[in-house]
Amino acid sequence: MINIDSFDKILITAGAGMGVDSGLPDFRGEKGFWKAYPLLKNKNLSFVDMANPRAFKLFPKLAWGFYGHRLALYRQTEPHAGFKILLDLCKKSSDYFVVTSNVDGHFQKSGFVDSSIYEVHGSINYLQCTKCSINPYKNELDLLVDMSTFQCSQPPTCNCGALLRPNILMFGDFAWDDSIFFKQEQRYRRFLSEITDNDRLLIIELGAGLSVPTIQIQSNSINSRFKNSYLVRINPRDFEVSGDRSESIVCGALDGLNRLLQANEGL
Ligand SMILES: [Zn+2]
Repeated sequence: MINIDSFDKILITAGAGMGVDSGLPDFRGEKGFWKAYPLLKNKNLSFVDMANPRAFKLFPKLAWGFYGHRLALYRQTEPHAGFKILLDLCKKSSDYFVVTSNVDGHFQKSGFVDSSIYEVHGSINYLQCTKCSINPYKNELDLLVDMSTFQCSQPPTCNCGALLRPNILMFGDFAWDDSIFFKQEQRYRRFLSEITDNDRLLIIELGAGLSVPTIQIQSNSINSRFKNSYLVRINPRDFEVSGDRSESIVCGALDGLNRLLQANEGL
C-alpha cells in the first residue's frame, strides 16, 4: 500500500458508501431504500419519487416527512472514526479539498473547513424557497415528523408564504438553487489550479459507486490530469482502477482507512 505521508496535497472524494459506517441508510436500489423506509414501500414510492421537486408539489407533508426525518437522523448521527483519520491526514498536508455527493454535512461536522468542501449535490442543511429567489439559508428548523404516517404536519414555509425545500439537487430538478454550489466549485477550481507539477497529490475516494458515477469520474479525471497524483479507491463493490498510479482497497470506508493507516505504521 502507498505511503500516505509522502504527499503534499490531499483530495478526498466521497460517495454514499462513506455514510454507511456511521449507520446511515444506503439508498442503493429500491431494496435498500424501502428497507430504510418501509412505509414508503406500502405507498409504492421509490427514492426517485421522493427525492424529486414534484414530491413537494404533490404531497408536501410526506416530502417533508422524508427530508425532516433524514435531517434529524443526520443531526443525531456521529460521523464514524474514518472522518477523523482523514482530517488528521489533511491537517498534515499543505492543502486539501473534499468533494462529496453526500448531503449530510458530515465533513463539516467532523471539523473539515467549510471553505474546503464541495458538495456536488447540495446540502440538507440549507433551505431554498420553491417560489421566490431568496438566497439559500441555514436550516435551523426542528421539524416534527409523525412516524406512524411519515408526514410532517407543518411543512416549513418562506416569508413569502410559499413552501421551502432542501437545497439539494434532486432528480429532474430544474429549480435547484446552485448559488452555494457555484461558490464551492470556484474554490475547488482554485485549489486545483494551485497544484503544481512538483506537488504530490493523494486522492482518496471512499464509497463512490457507479450507479451515480459523478464522484468516480471526478477522481479518475483529476488523477489523469496531474503528473504526481495517486488514487486510492476504497469500495467493497465498484472498486476497479486503471493505471499504475492507483490502487483499490476492497472494503467499506472505515475499514479501508484503518487498513491504510495500519499499512503505513509498518512502513
Ligand atoms: Zn419565498
